[in-house]
Amino acid sequence: MEPIASVRDQALRLLASGAVSSRAELVEALRVAPSTVTAAVRRLLADGVIVEVGSGRSTGGRPPRVLRLRETGGVFAVTELDGRHARVGLCAPGGALHTADEVAIDVAAGPDQVFDAVAAEFARLRAAIAPGQPLLGVGVALPGPVEFAHGRVVGPARMPGWSGVDARALLAARFRVPVAVDNDAKAAAIGEHLARGREPGDMIYVKAGTGIGGCLVSGGQVHRGGRGLSGDVTHVRVVDSGERVCSCGGRGCLETVASGAALVRQLAEQGSPAAAVRDVAAAVRDGDPTAVTMVRHAGRLLGVALSSLVNFLNPDAVVIGGSLSGLDGYVAATRGALYELCLPSMTQSLTIEAGVAGPDAALIGLGHLLRTTTDVRTR
Ligand SMILES: [Zn+2]
Repeated sequence: MEPIASVRDQALRLLASGAVSSRAELVEALRVAPSTVTAAVRRLLADGVIVEVGSGRSTGGRPPRVLRLRETGGVFAVTELDGRHARVGLCAPGGALHTADEVAIDVAAGPDQVFDAVAAEFARLRAAIAPGQPLLGVGVALPGPVEFAHGRVVGPARMPGWSGVDARALLAARFRVPVAVDNDAKAAAIGEHLARGREPGDMIYVKAGTGIGGCLVSGGQVHRGGRGLSGDVTHVRVVDSGERVCSCGGRGCLETVASGAALVRQLAEQGSPAAAVRDVAAAVRDGDPTAVTMVRHAGRLLGVALSSLVNFLNPDAVVIGGSLSGLDGYVAATRGALYELCLPSMTQSLTIEAGVAGPDAALIGLGHLLRTTTDVRTR
């Protein structure tokens, strides 16, 4: 006998195509026992993928129940790229995230190879989570500056081979559905804004991961700036930075001292076998005094870089997301520097804290962008 999962997938495909609409028709089309179809349909109903609507025309006996795909059938496929990983997920047409996982990529291999890997993961997730459901849109968050209006990558320091790439056109040609392309920090800021529930007011969001990205959300809107390139806090020059050469060609940028890449490098220079931010986190958890001091110094320099922005913009909240936001001491050191360097009138009502949306912030943001910028909502 065939495994139930396979019958479930085949049944879903048949129902999605409109070729069949009842249990009896499924039994006939799939040539399996009625009890097998009943079990598969029960699972599809329980998963909320299909619904039973009214009764079909009777051919003599009891009228059959009509089975249909749920009206909100279909998914958005979304991904956030980092240098070495892609976080990949599926969102409901309403924008809610269904599922997410990670695959290894090498962003330096260029868009074609990276999008091949992401497309394969989209296909795997769709087959597992939403078989037979149409793809309604694709969203991609990139770790570099994006001209949002055109979906084009502009001079990314940490994405060799991507400068000038029209990511939106490439993705639209590949998937033939509506596409949203955004900078990772901006997508994550949107996700964080949504995850906060109540209106958080004006918010400076910082994504502190391998690199450091920023975004201002003001009046419920992402401030994108003239070309859409706003928020590039990573190349703000800070004092006490050691004047190290940055990936942008400048010296003493925040990225060279306060980013995940900088912490990994600093820890490795001290002789620790650190290769990723999780190694820094492990060293901090183990109470390694060098790592603890480095993380505090990095958080403090982030606060230094943000202090003039806080004085200038008078936000209600500074929210720090990304992998470094989970490191003990990083957010606290940022908070300490902001309290020390900003006007008391600015910090009196300022919330400074780690994000609540977690590692899926950017995927949630992309789901929202697709829901609000595409015409496709339901099938
Ligand atoms: Zn720089």
